[in-house]
Amino acid sequence: MLRHVSSSHKDSPTLKFLVDGMLGSLATKLRILGFDSIYDRNSVDAALIQIVKKDGRTLVTSDQELSLNAKRMHLSVILITKTNDRARLVELCRQAGFKKLDLTVMSRCSNCNSNLIETYEQDKFGRKVLRCETCAKLYWKGSHWKKLDELFSEVNRELNSKRTNKHITASSSSTKD
Ligand SMILES: [Zn+2]
Repeated sequence: MLRHVSSSHKDSPTLKFLVDGMLGSLATKLRILGFDSIYDRNSVDAALIQIVKKDGRTLVTSDQELSLNAKRMHLSVILITKTNDRARLVELCRQAGFKKLDLTVMSRCSNCNSNLIETYEQDKFGRKVLRCETCAKLYWKGSHWKKLDELFSEVNRELNSKRTNKHITASSSSTKD
């Protein structure tokens, strides 16, 4: 009976993020992947902590001190140390426990974090067009989408290779007899 707007997207991720002001481009990518991601360019640390507490979000930050403070308060936090989005996404996935990134649905506006709704319109190539319910930005799977898909595939490859390495190390050290 309670129907959430995005309930049609069965793969919509459930983890919610609050991304700090230095990681705007990462916040955009997380939204494209369907994650509810608030990005705050101006808030001071105390305000960010408040939102994380109140909203049950995971703080994503490159600020070591802020990360430590959040951990001391037993809040969920992911510390980002890398400088490009591919490496940052790998870092985030490892800490969040994601095995892979999935870019199969368009469910969230990269601009304002609101849900996308179907317009029943198509672009000139017959691709489905979606519209943000808040800022009205239009979305379709064009060339930009292809580039993102490649980026996320690279991230997945890296996650996969790291996991394999880890698996080998784990199994060779567990010598039960
Ligand atoms: Zn929007």
